[in-house]
Amino acid sequence: MRKRTQARELALQALYQRDVRGELPEKGLRTPGEIDDLPPDVLAFGHELIEDCVRRLEEIDRMIEETAENWSLDRMPTIDRNILRLATCELVFRTDTPPKVAINEAIELAKKFSTENSPTYVNGILDRILNLHAAHRLGTREEESAGQETDEADPGQEDDPFAGLAPDPQGRVDLHVHSTASDGSFAPEEIVRMAARCHLAGVAIVDHDTIEGLATAAVAAEEVGILLVPGVELTAYEDGEGREDKEYEIHVLGYFVDPQSRLLAGGLERFRRVRPERIEKIARKLDALGVPLDPAEVLRRAPGGSVGRPHVAQELVRLGHCATVQEAFDLYLATGGPAYVCKERLTPVQAIDLIHAAGGCAVLAHPGITPRPDEILEQLKSVGLDGVEVHCPPHTPEDEKRFMDAARRLDLAVTGGSDFHGEPKPRIRMGQETVSLVEVRDLAERRRRQVRDAAGLGRGR
Ligand code: AMP
Ligand code: ZN
Ligand code: FE
Ligand code: FE
Repeated sequence: MRKRTQARELALQALYQRDVRGELPEKGLRTPGEIDDLPPDVLAFGHELIEDCVRRLEEIDRMIEETAENWSLDRMPTIDRNILRLATCELVFRTDTPPKVAINEAIELAKKFSTENSPTYVNGILDRILNLHAAHRLGTREEESAGQETDEADPGQEDDPFAGLAPDPQGRVDLHVHSTASDGSFAPEEIVRMAARCHLAGVAIVDHDTIEGLATAAVAAEEVGILLVPGVELTAYEDGEGREDKEYEIHVLGYFVDPQSRLLAGGLERFRRVRPERIEKIARKLDALGVPLDPAEVLRRAPGGSVGRPHVAQELVRLGHCATVQEAFDLYLATGGPAYVCKERLTPVQAIDLIHAAGGCAVLAHPGITPRPDEILEQLKSVGLDGVEVHCPPHTPEDEKRFMDAARRLDLAVTGGSDFHGEPKPRIRMGQETVSLVEVRDLAERRRRQVRDAAGLGRGR
């Protein structure tokens, strides 16, 4: 079943329950068993629909009542009433759903959950609502893809990220840099100015679980005339055959993500929400290990809101428990270490899906530090991975060759970057690993292709 269709069914169930019982199911969409394996972007879309619908319910109900002349809302079958609410909400208020899609999806819901006459009835009312209340949306670009749906990415946004840049194929781009929005020590605009001073043609800011730094960075990039690639780094987990001590992290980079994507924003917000609680848990483990620290001090180090292990490490150094950030990782914080605590349990597939939903390219970060990287690359390619970070500080020349070969074999884009953090990784310099603008163009081109295919516009070409 298509992803958004699933989300709509879940939203309909929640609205139905709300109508019958007077309140939303306790945990929103979380009906046990059913949704635990749904990708986060599907859940996020479902949640958004419910929220939008409930928030605007009065307005929506008024539109339906005006339109459904012979039927007052409360005489309507409950299921139809809620199908209409959901579809009206999408039709009038959600500009990311093509009008025809909203109507067709409602008809499908009616076929599946309601009575024989319901699809025609629902169709009639929604057609009228479209004419009366959403006529402004007809003739929009979205209409061109009527019947198709992009799961958010808008094929209309084919802006050229290279516009205004001198065509310099020698220009180098560091595609992996962190800012104060997560655990780096330089502000996003400082990163951009540093990149220009390093004679880079561009830089990608890929903060952990946040895109908050991108807006100010974009302004700075415009000023200094270099390319800013909007990005993000997500943490996913491989379960190591069910053994917790064997599980490991997979970092997935997202490039050219749409900063306006509501699905991405929702996902990231959720991932960030568990981070402060995780710091408390780490603090408790550290306490038991005889190295107490105040979690509030750690949080203070992360005003950007994406607090992580490097902040803990820096606090351990300040308190004199460790000599360096690296020592703090080696002794306590490294993955699987004595004070290690995982974050939101995202799978690599979910990470890739979320990046795609935001119109971005998904790239496996530093595969050289991942167990069984060749298998992982092959697996992830089959679920849509777009590229592999070939050039990065942990890689030996043999690693580079191995992943270059893998990229060629699996048709993956080649990326590279320093993973510059500033203070937390004092030995890493910005621009120490880069790719050329040619490779960045390849990445951007893949994104464009992917967005177009997702919209069904590329078919038959
Ligand atoms: P977090 O998102 O809180 O799990 O932190 C992830 C960050 O911690 C990475 O981006 C690295 O900067 C750093 N990190 C993770 N593992 C290590 C390690 N073994 N040694 C040094 N730094 C590490
Ligand atoms: Zn980091
Ligand atoms: Fe990473
Ligand atoms: Fe990183």
